[in-house]
Amino acid sequence: MPETIRAVRGMNDILPDESSLWELFEDTIRTWLAGYGYRNLRTPIVEQTDLFVRSIGEVTDIVEKEMYTFVDQLNGENLTLRPEGTASCVRAVIEHNLLYSGPQRLYYSGPMFRHERPQKGRYRQFHQVGVEALGFAGPDIDAELIIMCARLWRLLGIPDVRLEISTLGSTESRSIYRSRLISYLEKFYGDLDEDARRRLKTNPLRILDSKNPAMHEILAGAPRLLDDLDEDSLAHFEALQAILRSQGINFEINNRLVRGLDYYNRTVFEWVTDKLGAQGTICAGGRYDGLIAQIGGKPAPACGFAMGIERILALMDENGTVGAHTAPDVYVVHQGEVAARFCWKVAETLRDSGFKVILHSGGGNFKAQMKKADASGARFAAIIGDDEAEAGQISIKSLREAAEQVRVDLARAAALLGNI
Ligand code: ATP
Ligand code: MG
Repeated sequence: MPETIRAVRGMNDILPDESSLWELFEDTIRTWLAGYGYRNLRTPIVEQTDLFVRSIGEVTDIVEKEMYTFVDQLNGENLTLRPEGTASCVRAVIEHNLLYSGPQRLYYSGPMFRHERPQKGRYRQFHQVGVEALGFAGPDIDAELIIMCARLWRLLGIPDVRLEISTLGSTESRSIYRSRLISYLEKFYGDLDEDARRRLKTNPLRILDSKNPAMHEILAGAPRLLDDLDEDSLAHFEALQAILRSQGINFEINNRLVRGLDYYNRTVFEWVTDKLGAQGTICAGGRYDGLIAQIGGKPAPACGFAMGIERILALMDENGTVGAHTAPDVYVVHQGEVAARFCWKVAETLRDSGFKVILHSGGGNFKAQMKKADASGARFAAIIGDDEAEAGQISIKSLREAAEQVRVDLARAAALLGNI
């Protein structure tokens, strides 16, 4: 017996019973995104490794330990499976000069890859929908992105998602804050965990994001970035809050929100639920005004977010959101030689009228076929024996309600089915 081959750890198959929920989600977001004028951008799943190192930042979880990086054996190129979508999006926008024709509202959707420890809500291949608004400088666009998320939660029937916002200010104000934070944390050096000690010199702001409760105690007394904020960033942050308030969007200011990627400045936000344990952030984003220039484009402001589809679907499941209905309308059963030819015409004719039709395959007597029809979840069976077939007719039997079986001309079948 050959050894069975299994899927790669942390990378999941999405089986038909689950994928109806995925399709419902996908249909919903398409209409939702169109409603705000965001257009789809599709980029390759593999990029040059440098793109992610330069954009996400060298001292981040993703670049330090989560990327699937490999050398292409055939030409020696250093490549990486995308761990997130913003870098690729910005790369494509620069490469195709999309900002030449003005600011762009874009979105992408698809698999991302991070070598993390697999657990509930955390996988090595997972899926994101990302929304990016490029070339817009004002807080109105930050607000638009947040407001559209709030609408999506309503559309998907997900209650109780909390919005946390903060601001990282400008590069200058952040560097002033950085030194203040370092001096503060150095006083507690003996109590810092290993991660925090390592980050103290390289990326101290990330310590604020620590999941270790012992660090939280130390951080409670830490200086706040909000107090070192430059005037423009403060005005931007206040304007954003004013729009959110005027639109009835509740939020909390979370001073410890710094996000795991280096490219953010000013506004950062996360949508968090308490229903998924430690993996509670379902959507996260912010402004990244420096990134386009940082990877070689003409400087332009930008803002965006990405949501984790698996986590959102887990919430939809939790709230009993039903999957898209995939049961057929009609299951066609047939027995006999003439019927075996006529059944094709029946199925195609009903499909012409928009019905979902399963044509029985695999033979068997009527009784066995009717069992399959019932198990398919179809509302009706179209029954074709040779005498029906010779007369160009079908017998229609309701599978869900007690009703007389009726025999009709094929030409009248669609109208009849539509009326029952
Ligand atoms: P976390 O703190 O949970 O690791 P993150 O800050 O690394 O999240 P982002 O890079 O901001 O996450 O990605 C945006 C969203 O993508 C997250 O809020 C989450 O919903 C989802 N996500 C991130 N990593 C994973 C993963 N490994 N598996 C499933 N979903 C993920
Ligand atoms: Mg992470």
